[in-house]
Amino acid sequence: MRKPIVLYSNLAATLAMLGFFLLSGMMGAEAPFLAGSGRYLGTENLEGRIVVLDPGHGGQDPGTVGVGSTTEAENVLAIAWELKALLEKYGAEVIMTRQTDTSPSAGTQFYGQKNGQLAARTAAANRSRGEIFISLHNDWHDDSSVRGTSVHYYKAQDLALAEALQGALVAHTKARDLGIKRSNFYVLRNTNMPAALVEIGFLSNPEEARLLARPSYRREAALGLLAGINAYFAGN
Ligand SMILES: [Zn+2]
Repeated sequence: MRKPIVLYSNLAATLAMLGFFLLSGMMGAEAPFLAGSGRYLGTENLEGRIVVLDPGHGGQDPGTVGVGSTTEAENVLAIAWELKALLEKYGAEVIMTRQTDTSPSAGTQFYGQKNGQLAARTAAANRSRGEIFISLHNDWHDDSSVRGTSVHYYKAQDLALAEALQGALVAHTKARDLGIKRSNFYVLRNTNMPAALVEIGFLSNPEEARLLARPSYRREAALGLLAGINAYFAGN
């Protein structure tokens, strides 16, 4: 008698699973697990939230040009687009401070001013309904063996966001955890909302430069940031 029961329950479980996948397929939803990792990808706190994404540099300013084939400005723009699509898929609204390889100050009153491209970023964020501001960057160190991810914050209200982003990002990318740091950066100091500046990896490190040029690693970074944003909105 035992065997048929086991078979039956296996069949029931299989059917239930099949039903779940069919249903999620019909709803256009991805199973909320990261492929291969089995880790739950939380997305339940994103609906209706408004996020400002700030891909660093752009236009005349390529940012860090490291040992890899791509520049900082290219890498962070690609990750921002990936993250924007994910956030929108789960119901968040996204404002980008730049959408192409241009300076955010181009065509604004900030053009040509000292810190003009930074002022254009924070002005766009502050006049938007954005609830959080996330600036995306790649790092540089004279010692090419230095690698890893850090998130910078400045204001007291930035701290929880920085912690959430750092934790989720290193959990997803498996990058070395360099922790969060308090830094007096323009875009952190001059934004009215919780803000964080993410240094995803070092373009001076050959391995991280190679990874940051890769679509699969950029996607992994975007998924980590998505999970971090979701975790932040769980408590804020
Ligand atoms: Zn930068």
